[in-house]
Amino acid sequence: MGLFSRRKTVFVDADILVVGGGMAGCGATYESKYWGRDLKVVCVEKANIERSGAVAQGLYAINCYMGMQWNENQPEDHVRYARNDLMGLVREDLGYDIARHVDSTVHKFEEWGLPIMRDPETGRYQREGKWQIMIHGESYKPIVAEAARKAADQVYNRIMVTHLLMDATKRNRVAGAVGFNVRTGDFYVFRAKAVIVCAGGASHIFKPRAVGEGMGRTWYAPWSSASAYALPILAGAKMTQMENRIVLTRFKDGYGPVGAYFLHLKTYTQNGFGEEYESKWYNHTKELVGDYIDRHPVPTCLRNHALLEEVKAGRGPIRMVTTEAFQDPHKETVGWENFLGMTIGQAVVWASQNIDPKFTNPELTTSEPYVMGSHATCSGAWASGPSDYAPAEYQWGYNRMMTVDGLFGGGDAIGGTAHKFSSGSFTEGRIAGKAAVNYVNDLRREQPEVSEREYEGLKKTIYQPLENYRVGRNEITAGTVSPSYILPLHGLQRLEKIMDEYVGGISAHYTTNTPLLNRGLELLAMLKEDLDHLGAEDLHQLQRAWELHHRVLASEAVTQHTMFREETRWPGYYYRGDHPKLDDANWHCFTLSRYDRETGKWELEKAPIYHIVD
Ligand SMILES: Cc1cc2nc3c(=O)[nH]c(=O)nc-3n(C[C@H](O)[C@H](O)[C@H](O)COP(=O)(O)OP(=O)(O)OC[C@H]3O[C@@H](n4cnc5c(N)ncnc54)[C@H](O)[C@@H]3O)c2cc1C
Repeated sequence: MGLFSRRKTVFVDADILVVGGGMAGCGATYESKYWGRDLKVVCVEKANIERSGAVAQGLYAINCYMGMQWNENQPEDHVRYARNDLMGLVREDLGYDIARHVDSTVHKFEEWGLPIMRDPETGRYQREGKWQIMIHGESYKPIVAEAARKAADQVYNRIMVTHLLMDATKRNRVAGAVGFNVRTGDFYVFRAKAVIVCAGGASHIFKPRAVGEGMGRTWYAPWSSASAYALPILAGAKMTQMENRIVLTRFKDGYGPVGAYFLHLKTYTQNGFGEEYESKWYNHTKELVGDYIDRHPVPTCLRNHALLEEVKAGRGPIRMVTTEAFQDPHKETVGWENFLGMTIGQAVVWASQNIDPKFTNPELTTSEPYVMGSHATCSGAWASGPSDYAPAEYQWGYNRMMTVDGLFGGGDAIGGTAHKFSSGSFTEGRIAGKAAVNYVNDLRREQPEVSEREYEGLKKTIYQPLENYRVGRNEITAGTVSPSYILPLHGLQRLEKIMDEYVGGISAHYTTNTPLLNRGLELLAMLKEDLDHLGAEDLHQLQRAWELHHRVLASEAVTQHTMFREETRWPGYYYRGDHPKLDDANWHCFTLSRYDRETGKWELEKAPIYHIVD
């Protein structure tokens, strides 16, 4: 008991609590305060919002900008684009809602000091592709964070949120959150009328390609630890499209982005024998997915598919032909600068491997899978849509409210809307913030109540890994191996292995089937039992322990969804060996799940797709 009674408990009361201060969280904080001048808006972040989240190290392009002021694109065009890329399955109401507001977000970024490149002839923003505009984006995140910091009543950095609190009087209503300060160890109880979860996506749930000396190197941010999914799942929120993991084609070993190379430098790919290969796989792919292969642009997953098949046929490695473009000094500069803005590690990897893209065509490879709702996939919570646009079946309350009252989300947290990226995530945070203000104002005297029993119970649970370590550390049998606890790193590696081998990771060529998924679920259940015995030697490891809890729960959701969808909808992202084809007759729908934390059981169902844009 001594361990728990010594810990200081800090109580924070807020009207609106934003969990995670990345792109969506900063947008939610900014907008909540704009509409709720009299409300107390608090943002809580496990790192420091100045440099946190997937945009921490900066970006080179904003990937979602319509350009309506110049009549470049309309919101409907973006819905068509995202729908095509996701093989027909997106929440068109949510996507349209973001697209119609995203330009105003980008204009704010520029006003706040973000340098956006301009075309010297037209004066318009410099385009990199149809949707991307180019920025000098090293300081993108600090600029956005400043706006949130100035708007918030309080930003609590270095607090890892582990659980949401539920209302003591109304079971399906959120009442706050708990977590701990990763530096002081203090326990935090946030009591709030509305909570907006913006805690980013999930990396490190599948075994990464980089292990051993490269361990920790991933494409998506390694600190994106699935809290955006685990927190709502534990609160009983319905999730959607959790099977829709993303696999990226990237420069090998450094995960350097390839989009700017293709779009701006007009590079192309070839197999290990210098041959064009994509067209060879046309008929084969058409058999699997029908005319989706004829769409323009070709959906991202299908482009991966051709690469994967060519490698499986023994004609790798796949290379990008850079040696032609790099003869032009301007393009050579652009090529290198592309990494300086966001993936400087790729330049270092090339230097260490004697690759100068002017003389050597660098290798491409496909990444391990990630789960997220803001990039070219749409996993996340099932959310209510905008009142002026969403079909009745997609509306049960306030915009971006999940199926739990008072619980909102933005960015990677919200499912069904791919291709939001940084600007769309900030915009969705803004949309959620405005709706949360309305929700709080409408509550009037009917306030949620936090139960002392609940948060005191959670306090015990949260610090248990420190106690497990303290008690068990003298029993160490060898190095870090103890008979009475497992370390977070051991648990993480076990999770990654299960997901990799049974749920369609790299070593299984992204392929799975019912028997594999069933076995994966059994192994995940055993891993979950062992999580009660996690040992944390310090607060840093305690954070790792709770990140692991979140990753495991999100992985279980991914596995359940993958099992439920009996088709291969996105070849190139993953394959169901027992259902190898796209099946529009039965699966042109969303998958939804709900987890019961009392019983540990999952319920899955289908939800219809409404095509609103023609
Ligand atoms: C390598 C890479 C390249 C990209 N390239 C581009 C690009 O070129 N253009 C573009 O527009 N977009 C790009 N994106 C996408 C963009 O970064 C994301 O779409 C966007 O950051 C998602 O916003 P978010 O708020 O959902 O998540 P994030 O911005 O990742 O924010 C999540 C926040 O939650 C915090 N958090 C997590 N768990 C907890 C917890 N338990 N308690 C408290 N806080 C928590 C995190 O620390 C983080 O600050 C790229 C992303 C990556 C990783």
